[in-house]
Amino acid sequence: MLNKRAQKAFHLAEKGTPAILFTGSENVRYLTGFSGSEGSLLLTRRGGFFLTDGRYTVQAKNQVKAFKVITFREKWKALGRLIEKLKVPAVAYESNHLTLTFFDALKKEAQKTALIPLEDRMDRLRVLKQRDEISALKKAAKIAAKSLKAVFPLIVPGVSEIDIASELEYRMRKNGGESLAFPTIVASGHRSALPHGTATDKKIEKGDFVTIDYGTVYNGYASDETCTVVVGKATQKQLRVYDTVKKAHDRALKKIRPGISFKKIDLAARNHIEKKGFGKYFNHGTGHGVGLCVHEYPVVSFRSQDVVEPGMVFTIEPGIYLPGWGGVRIEDTVLVKKTGIELITKTDKTLKCVGQ
Ligand code: ZN
Ligand code: ZN
Repeated sequence: MLNKRAQKAFHLAEKGTPAILFTGSENVRYLTGFSGSEGSLLLTRRGGFFLTDGRYTVQAKNQVKAFKVITFREKWKALGRLIEKLKVPAVAYESNHLTLTFFDALKKEAQKTALIPLEDRMDRLRVLKQRDEISALKKAAKIAAKSLKAVFPLIVPGVSEIDIASELEYRMRKNGGESLAFPTIVASGHRSALPHGTATDKKIEKGDFVTIDYGTVYNGYASDETCTVVVGKATQKQLRVYDTVKKAHDRALKKIRPGISFKKIDLAARNHIEKKGFGKYFNHGTGHGVGLCVHEYPVVSFRSQDVVEPGMVFTIEPGIYLPGWGGVRIEDTVLVKKTGIELITKTDKTLKCVGQ
């Protein structure tokens, strides 16, 4: 009997699919519990086979409880032999997580088997978070926030963006984070107009906006939060831009409830920014799902056709980026509950003045 997660995988695949090959590390981890870097799962209606190489024999035995573990010398030959032995007429594969080299090798080894691309069919596999996942997401966010809090006093004129990023990264690791969820963004002054400005050696100056988008990982689960602070005292224009983003962020948060479309949530933020005259300076989606992967399904976009369900975890992160002047982004990660939402990221988003 397959467990619930494996059953859901077949539910998402095309009807009648006899077997699914998972090669993306997040889905493999989700289905098997294996956290190493080399692992694939061949799932059939009756059970599954986890394949890894000799480096992971011990780890796989400890972590993979629900499936038979096979250690291979040559991956494609082992997979081909297994597929042949199982006599499955077709195998659906994660076409978004497979290189052409892998595909060609697999095709050669499993010539009698039809290989069916899954495309984005497995996107929804991990979308509804379970209790253990939610607690890992919360723990990651807590570690990150505690670390950022300790770094705020260090944001003073004269230190560089890299100084701030490395202090933050060091503290996240020290406080229990496993790794970075993504390269830390510290973008100050005119650089804060870059939505993805990873830290450089630029020195912080008085009057700068500093945007910090950062995250750590706990038990495989990522955190994602953005705070924008001002060094010294904010100007009228800075206050106006910050206030516009904050209200857009709050309006989007207020909209979230089970059954509402992602489109409406995106538009709640977007329409407010447009109304204030900054529409063309908000040039990305309002948010994205967070889980084992820091950017995963769903997307909070005006192009989305999907609706919110309890158990989803995603970000709300509107921004305004004025080229040559600077920018603001405010980002929180939220959990959808049956009756509303819970913020996973808890840092207060009122404008903070630092370095005084
Ligand atoms: Zn972020
Ligand atoms: Zn994000």
